[in-house]
Amino acid sequence: MLTNSDLIELTTFRHALHRRPEISGEEAETARTIVEALKPMSPTRIVTGLGGYGVAAVFDSGIDGPTVLFRAELDALPIEERNNAIEWLSEISGKSHVCGHDGHMTMLLALGRMISRRPVAKGRVILMFQPAEEDGSGAKAVVKDPAFKDLSPDYAFAIHNEPGIPFGFVATRIGLINCASLGLKITLSGKTAHAADPQDGVSPALAVAKLIPALDALGDGEGGPRNDNFRLVTITHANIGEPTFGIAPGEAQVFATLRTAADANMESLEDAARALTMSVAKEFGLGVEFEVHDHFAASVNDAEAYGVAVKAMDAIGVPHGEAGVPMRASEDFGVFGWSAKAAMLCLGPGEDHAALHNPDYDFPDDLIPIGSSIFERIARDLLGSIRM
Ligand SMILES: [Zn+2]
Ligand SMILES: [Zn+2]
Repeated sequence: MLTNSDLIELTTFRHALHRRPEISGEEAETARTIVEALKPMSPTRIVTGLGGYGVAAVFDSGIDGPTVLFRAELDALPIEERNNAIEWLSEISGKSHVCGHDGHMTMLLALGRMISRRPVAKGRVILMFQPAEEDGSGAKAVVKDPAFKDLSPDYAFAIHNEPGIPFGFVATRIGLINCASLGLKITLSGKTAHAADPQDGVSPALAVAKLIPALDALGDGEGGPRNDNFRLVTITHANIGEPTFGIAPGEAQVFATLRTAADANMESLEDAARALTMSVAKEFGLGVEFEVHDHFAASVNDAEAYGVAVKAMDAIGVPHGEAGVPMRASEDFGVFGWSAKAAMLCLGPGEDHAALHNPDYDFPDDLIPIGSSIFERIARDLLGSIRM
């Protein structure tokens, strides 16, 4: 149980995290702050440097039993915050916690307070603060880290706040919960020329003009992500040459985000995007190079872990349902599900709440006790509590 003082301290802590955002792979200060906050809870051990700046706190009962991992994310986004409604604005220009990871970390620390006061009777609780969620690299790096072998969980749970869902309501389901996605960076190269003599160069301009709608058309949003064949291509960026009037361009870049409901369909969508690009490049006499970024595996909820979460939510009166999921957006938590029974819960900050990654988004502190209570109940249902 959280006390009034807990909530005041945790809220203050969340605001402090909010002021000091660090982006994927650069979460050194955030990790140190988390370690300092964990120490007074006297976990059995604290592991640092997991897959980068990842931090794990292990609460080991010393009695045989399952290992239950709860996950939060350390990273913020390279987005300039614009919010007149809060006093705890980012102090770091161009960076902000506009995905609510400051709130997710705080929910995990709230869980830590409750577990340290009333330990579990068997098994282990692991509070996992993973780095680099936003670029899809962190969970993979954590799981691959040799130090993670010792922490390998039987169950893994995470909560992400999801604007659009009513406040305090949890959307979740068995099966796909977050789509797979992959960022494809396409570079087309030709030859620059004087704008008066474009025939002397090889311009990628018309190729880009042809490529954008053609890539877009590879998608098929029919039925949304509940349809296994859901595919979506979103052009996120494009540029041609330099912003001048005197040069016919010689190079162009197109960024496309590919999204599928199933990991198995990502390869064929990527193959199709590459083949299409190469044929357009050939038609216009251009060279082409590809780079892959931000590859997220699909996140899939295990039926048993889902059942555990639903039972916990029912026990403490948290309303839940399947509306609004699976999410089109990706989430690298799915990686923990490769070797554990995992479930992601999407917790509502309100239907009209600013969207994730918007400059005026802020995590609602009132979700801290709700999220941490769900986690606590899951831990106690699976691992019991020592008699006080
Ligand atoms: Zn995000
Ligand atoms: Zn996020």
